[in-house]
Amino acid sequence: MIIKKIEPQGFCGGVKRAIEITNKLLEDKYIEKPIYMLGSLIHNAHIISSFTEKGIILLDDKLTKEEMINMVDSGTIIISAHGLSPKLKEKAFKKGLNIVDTTCPYVELIHTKIKDAIKKNTDVIYIGTKSHPEVCGVLGISDNIHLVSNEDDINNLNITNDKIYVTNQTTLSIYDIKSLYDKIKEKYPNVIIDNKICQATTVRQEAVYNQEKVDLCIIVGDKLSSNTKKLYTVSSSRGINTILIDSIEDIKNYDFKNINTVSISSGASTPSYLVDEIIEYIKNI
Ligand code: SF4
Repeated sequence: MIIKKIEPQGFCGGVKRAIEITNKLLEDKYIEKPIYMLGSLIHNAHIISSFTEKGIILLDDKLTKEEMINMVDSGTIIISAHGLSPKLKEKAFKKGLNIVDTTCPYVELIHTKIKDAIKKNTDVIYIGTKSHPEVCGVLGISDNIHLVSNEDDINNLNITNDKIYVTNQTTLSIYDIKSLYDKIKEKYPNVIIDNKICQATTVRQEAVYNQEKVDLCIIVGDKLSSNTKKLYTVSSSRGINTILIDSIEDIKNYDFKNINTVSISSGASTPSYLVDEIIEYIKNI
């Protein structure tokens, strides 16, 4: 079996940073307890379990961030790498909670740019996936942000302002977003477009897109992870037989008959050891 490991692998800078901040918190004996994670710190269940095993309480991702904050009366809350809206940060602050913020700098930059645009009375169109935590954080900045997830949403836009700023979630597909930007530009020719798909997402998608044809491409990552799911979409769009798995357990029953070449890529929140285990397993088939 020929195995091609598609680089880059391992955590992106934003994920590394969020994990390091949380690890430091666990070492701090003066930290106000209990420590709550305001939804998953990053989208990887293996990493989240490693923190909950050390005593951090995970607030259920099914709740809204506001409901999570309502549940906490004392101690420390950790804002995930996906960010939190300024209104909810303020709410947590007023409750007297100790706030530890692991928002990825790429996400923080989008918040800053949108706030600047709104101050200048500019309408904002934001391309993102409904209900994703990064998107919820951004939409909480102002009621004047128009969320767009597909072409129908663009058709339904009814903006009369001459000044429109358009930006997007950091982990979308670099290939799919172009048509949405083109469609917005067609409808509002004077818009300012500021594509904010992050570097980590971009380079991984390009590497997966440019890979040579293989019999099977394995994408490793959590099914909740946006950048992981987009790697799956990019590889499938090339007509490559592709599977998305969380760990070695998910391929133990996979039929490798007629599979001679395998490539392997992983999301920006996937620990490297999971990929290494899968490679070792395949080597021994
Ligand atoms: S994928 Fe991009 S935006 Fe998300 S944490 Fe990593 S660097 Fe930040």
